[in-house]
Amino acid sequence: MGIRVITDKCYGCKVCVPSCPFGIIEIIDKKAVIKDGCNLCGACVTACKFKAIEITRETETKIDKSLYSGVWVFAEQREGKLANVTKELLGEGRKLADELKEPLAAVLLGKGIGELAQGLIAHGADKVYLADAPELEYFLEDSYTQVIVDLVKKERPNIILLGATAIGRSLAPKVAARLETGLTADCTGLEVDVAEKNLLQTRPAFGGNLMATILCPNHRPQMATVRPKVFKPLAEDPSRTGEVITVDLAKTKWDIRAQVLEVVKETGYVVNLEEANIIVSGGRGLCDPKNFAMVEELARVLGGAVGASRAAVDAGWIPYAHQVGQTGKTVGPKIYFACGIHGAIQHLAGMSSSDIIIAINKNPDAPIFKIATYGIVGDVREVLPLLTKEFKKALGVSQEAVV
Ligand code: FAD
Repeated sequence: MGIRVITDKCYGCKVCVPSCPFGIIEIIDKKAVIKDGCNLCGACVTACKFKAIEITRETETKIDKSLYSGVWVFAEQREGKLANVTKELLGEGRKLADELKEPLAAVLLGKGIGELAQGLIAHGADKVYLADAPELEYFLEDSYTQVIVDLVKKERPNIILLGATAIGRSLAPKVAARLETGLTADCTGLEVDVAEKNLLQTRPAFGGNLMATILCPNHRPQMATVRPKVFKPLAEDPSRTGEVITVDLAKTKWDIRAQVLEVVKETGYVVNLEEANIIVSGGRGLCDPKNFAMVEELARVLGGAVGASRAAVDAGWIPYAHQVGQTGKTVGPKIYFACGIHGAIQHLAGMSSSDIIIAINKNPDAPIFKIATYGIVGDVREVLPLLTKEFKKALGVSQEAVV
């Protein structure tokens, strides 16, 4: 692929110059010149009114899209427990499959996990591909990739969705590379172009300053990962019926280079932001790291988790595991308290799907108030203790410190 200026059509109008995010377009002798460093983002192509800039592509062999059908969700499980993101992806996958009029399937790998299949059907799957083998007891890239790649080659799904979890982020690129197809990571929106059977994969780009919609028009399957809590699961319907297809692993080449010797569980306090129903988050507006104690106290009173903005994390006030946002965790609690957080787009990218957002900020024009359900204008150091006191009263908790 490359980019070129069609000089006959270029009038040197300069509109393309500011459109380039990398500042590499110059007008020389009344013609646009694109210097080295272009990543083919296409911003100048869109900006040019004279269609004088084009991205050139090598002719690709056209694939026969009619050979590919079905939306698949990788059913992530650990120790026989389904990851919540699997149910969320089934909910979204159901919508896409219905629009495409294609079946929705879950792909379940593990050892002795057959009983999870009905749960996947109850959450929207029409069928479940069940690969059950001792080699699949623990997630290992080699074994999981092999089984999924073999199955994809046989069944030819149109779309595959995976959670952007530690497992999904490790598995998806390997599968995509083996299948020589594209992968869009960390999507925040998915839609389909029914006529072309293309998946429109939306995700933040350029540091979250714009949302890009990415297509994979010439390869199949179309693959995307989605962070937990971006989509909502369907209500469980235990009466739903579906087909469970046992994957024949007799001919699988188990070329496994790693071995699980021992599973060591993390001990101590584990921040589980992604699963929390209530999150109290603190930002630079707390003014001092010691004021995080106020955030923690409110979180404890409400039985919630503690979150933070990147500014607070970067300042060393709280560990990275608490960071909410584009480069932190994506959360979707019932209630999200933003305490002294400005509301930068990168922070909103990780929490704007919360059901209720309560913002405390001394600046009435802070952007966080634009998405807040309730806004309190005031000094967070005064408001937080008052709120905690009132919640303690309402919940019948002693006014002494909560442990
Ligand atoms: P500030 O922007 O400094 O805002 C502090 C707020 O507190 C202000 O609104 C102020 O009015 C208010 N305030 C000050 N004193 C008080 C007081 N006493 N009482 C009440 N209010 C007060 N950010 C994230 O959070 N998460 C991410 O994942 C993330 N990823 C990023 C990725 C990239 C590529 C980039 C470029 C940036 C990213 N950021 C992220 C950073 C983001 O752009 C902001 O810089 C950051 O969110 C700001 O944090 P803040 O709101 O705590 O701080």
